Amino acid sequence: MKTVSSLLDKEWHARYSRISKLNIRSSIYDVTNRCNLRCKGCFFFSSGEHQAAPEENDISQWEAFIDKEKARGVNLAILIGGEPTLCLDRVEAFYRRLPTFCATNGLIKVPRERFPDMMVGISVWGDEEDEKILRGKDTFSISRKNYAGDPYTYYLYTITPKQIGKTEAVIRKIRDVGLKVHMQLLSNDEGVNGFSWSVQELADIRKEMDAMLDTYADTVISSKYYHEIITSGKMMERSFGWLECPSVTDALDNRQPQPKRLTNFIRWASDLKTMHRCCTSETRDCSTCKDGAAHMSWVMVNKRAHMRSTQDLQNWIQVYEMFAKLYQFIPW
Ligand code: SF4
Ligand code: SF4
Repeated sequence: MKTVSSLLDKEWHARYSRISKLNIRSSIYDVTNRCNLRCKGCFFFSSGEHQAAPEENDISQWEAFIDKEKARGVNLAILIGGEPTLCLDRVEAFYRRLPTFCATNGLIKVPRERFPDMMVGISVWGDEEDEKILRGKDTFSISRKNYAGDPYTYYLYTITPKQIGKTEAVIRKIRDVGLKVHMQLLSNDEGVNGFSWSVQELADIRKEMDAMLDTYADTVISSKYYHEIITSGKMMERSFGWLECPSVTDALDNRQPQPKRLTNFIRWASDLKTMHRCCTSETRDCSTCKDGAAHMSWVMVNKRAHMRSTQDLQNWIQVYEMFAKLYQFIPW
């Protein structure tokens, strides 16, 4: 029988041991239904999730809710929205109780005197020109000024087909302000013309992502196996989609048979009662889903399948390490 020890040498085994102790239990929280942008293709607004439930405005209700989430075993709170920085009192309620990651468009700077080591992930959708088309504003320039040199911040770069051949310029600008970057692909939920992926474009961007990782290894937090998975939607001859997705809210998951999935994962709406289907759009056709975190988690929950060979298990370790770095369970 193949075991971890029989597949890994000493160095890889040490890497494996470091991550196998982590036992990450994440859930996702809509902090608010509001945003200071309205990006074309935003999964939150395009799926009507901003109208799914009214926001809870009483901060003591948030505090009691987070205490219950902690008691439920959550050890990583991923804050999304809308734009979480519009409600810093709610963000602070999480930060004081749990390891917290805050997704933001970066227009409002999280005050570091209040949140000294909170992980911040800034969304960027391309270069200045693309951001103006999709987001109505060049947010990239503003967020770079706000967060330059911040050790607890990275960019979550949503790559669109329009950026093939242009990612290096974006990544270089991120490197030049001393930040890190992680890449995922746009799912184009609102069908914006020219922003859906063709098979050839997916092959091209995979090569480009690999090259960026090789060239900017100190800036790009990624792995080539992740690039393969996210661009092909395939893992071990299996196809990503509803029947395989690990990031479905536990209480709403009635799939039979149950695939490997994130333990106790819930995506909560901002009334603190309503649950959304999954980590991303409620209405997305799963066969078009390019969500980066869902693909990463897909690999992570399928360790046993990767015990086929040394290379497969090393691929699994690299994806797990990437996730752990992005949420600072291990250093960059
Ligand atoms: S900044 Fe984020 S939440 Fe706001 S509209 Fe854009 S994608 Fe949606
Ligand atoms: S939209 Fe994506 S993340 Fe959501 S259930 Fe479908 S495959 Fe999973």
